[in-house]
Amino acid sequence: MKKYDRSSFYLADKFPGYDLNNMPKVQEIFEKQLEKCQVEYFDFYLFHNVCEKNIDAYLDEKYHIHEYLMEQKKKGRIRHLGFSSHGDLPVLKRFLEAYGEDMEFCQLQLNYLDWDFQNAKEKVALLKTYGIPIWVMEPLRGGKLARIDSEYAHALEGKTTIEWAFRFLQSIPEVTMVLSGMSDSNQLLENIHIWEKDQPLNKKEMETLFNVAHDMTSKTGVPCTACHYCTSHCPKGLDIPRLLSLYNEHCFSNGSFITTMVIGTLPADKKPSACIGCHSCEKVCPQNINIPEVLKDFCKRLD
Ligand code: SF4
Ligand code: SF4
Repeated sequence: MKKYDRSSFYLADKFPGYDLNNMPKVQEIFEKQLEKCQVEYFDFYLFHNVCEKNIDAYLDEKYHIHEYLMEQKKKGRIRHLGFSSHGDLPVLKRFLEAYGEDMEFCQLQLNYLDWDFQNAKEKVALLKTYGIPIWVMEPLRGGKLARIDSEYAHALEGKTTIEWAFRFLQSIPEVTMVLSGMSDSNQLLENIHIWEKDQPLNKKEMETLFNVAHDMTSKTGVPCTACHYCTSHCPKGLDIPRLLSLYNEHCFSNGSFITTMVIGTLPADKKPSACIGCHSCEKVCPQNINIPEVLKDFCKRLD
């Protein structure tokens, strides 16, 4: 990049915390990243993928990650410090309680389907309390929302499916940036055309979209409402609603790296395989979900 005027472009990089082996190497990695890019500073630098797997390490002061990155910011080698996250709400809370005041942006998976399905709604509300703007990743859920089945597309008249997805994001005031992967110039032109105008959805359009999202997700997985009635009845202390939410994501995505990653971070006695099939939970479930059968199926799918 060094042949270009440094003030003519923005450059972002991330600390690769997806690999726990990197945790003790923040200085070495950061220096190498600058060297490889042949630049003096990054405009944006992120704690990469804050999640269940790495939150303990990210918060562990012995690695000095936050301290080191803040020092680089003071030196002007990082202009804006933020983070990306695929973690669940409790993980996000822990991270923000520790470093929220220093975070200038959060890159989050956000789209109309995940508003309820992945609880993005509550994550957005939490980030709002810290005044942290949101950069959206997966605005089309890996392209899935650009190619929805005709039965759902039929309900979304008047706009293309992509426009519905982007106008939804324009309706969330906390969103300041949308990162959309584009595979060809037609997609680029279509995106530019949509984003030329700021046209948030009205209340009725929002309802239509959420109905479609509900229909799309309710046909796979189980209708758990996360009421938590079942949890106190489980002799194994399993976080049943959380496991069922992961099950739904796994079914909907036909296997997903997020679910595999999260299940991988759970201790053996809290994984779906720890269920002993006692059926105590099922007796109190207002949705009549056959929880032990679902957890058994989850194990099979994970295998
Ligand atoms: S069936 Fe499984 S999940 Fe349900 S209460 Fe028994 S051990 Fe817990
Ligand atoms: S009782 Fe049923 S609906 Fe409520 S959290 Fe448990 S599984 Fe979900």
